[in-house]
Amino acid sequence: MSEKRPCGKHVDLASNGAVKISQCPCGTFYVTLHASGVTVRMNEETFKGATSAFLAATDKVTESTCPSIN
Ligand SMILES: [Zn+2]
Repeated sequence: MSEKRPCGKHVDLASNGAVKISQCPCGTFYVTLHASGVTVRMNEETFKGATSAFLAATDKVTESTCPSIN
């Protein structure tokens, strides 16, 4: 995917109460945090890296806030 496309209309990829994620035709991801109103731009590599970090962090939070069922 070395084809470089010009910027244009964003495509919504996902959204929930916390964030909205869209992608520009040029490949740039836009992550808007509703709580702060901040939009972060990142390329695909960074986006994927950030996503795996979020997931890893979520795993730890879930572990520490959910005591084992007994
Ligand atoms: Zn663009």
